[in-house]
Amino acid sequence: MRIYVDFDDCLCETGRAFSKLAAEMFGRDVPYEDMRFFELDKTFDLDDGQFERLMIRGHEPEALLSYKETPGASAVINEWISGGHEVSIITGRPFSAYEPSREWLDAHGLRKVGLYCLNKYGRDSFIKDSPFSLELEDYNRMQFDFAVEDSPRAFRFFEHLPNLRVLVFDRPWNRDCAFPNGRYTRCFDWAGIRRLVSERA
Ligand SMILES: [Mg+2]
Repeated sequence: MRIYVDFDDCLCETGRAFSKLAAEMFGRDVPYEDMRFFELDKTFDLDDGQFERLMIRGHEPEALLSYKETPGASAVINEWISGGHEVSIITGRPFSAYEPSREWLDAHGLRKVGLYCLNKYGRDSFIKDSPFSLELEDYNRMQFDFAVEDSPRAFRFFEHLPNLRVLVFDRPWNRDCAFPNGRYTRCFDWAGIRRLVSERA
């Protein structure tokens, strides 16, 4: 099977890190559990300049490398790869974050997974003609049986795959969202994700 896995808040605890950063940089006290919006400017009540500074800081290599692994992620992904499944990490991080993101994967035992940057959120810094920076048309040619994703704003990238099962990683900012169809399932941890994929494998 071919499996799409998002990076932030699926593989690692980015939201928790941004909650700490917003407190440190702007004195905003919004604990992880209270992060009700995917949009961080709305979550932390930031103006455009503050939001930009937060995003730059949160995507610096030392920040990216410090994000904690979501428990069980690498073990489950490596089990899939050993079982012959193909796993692609499709991240909405800007391409400027590619190298440290690759380094994070390697340091967490995920050398065998492919990493691709897809401009999911209209952010900047996407480089054309790189094998790791996906244009939408390249992405649309990829086929997946499962997707692991936390962001409701990324659901539109699944519309062209009528048989895809989407495993939505439970996060405070996706608890109120309506799923587009019955192929979406909320998952609370990697053990649950593993179970759902193995039922189909
Ligand atoms: Mg994410």
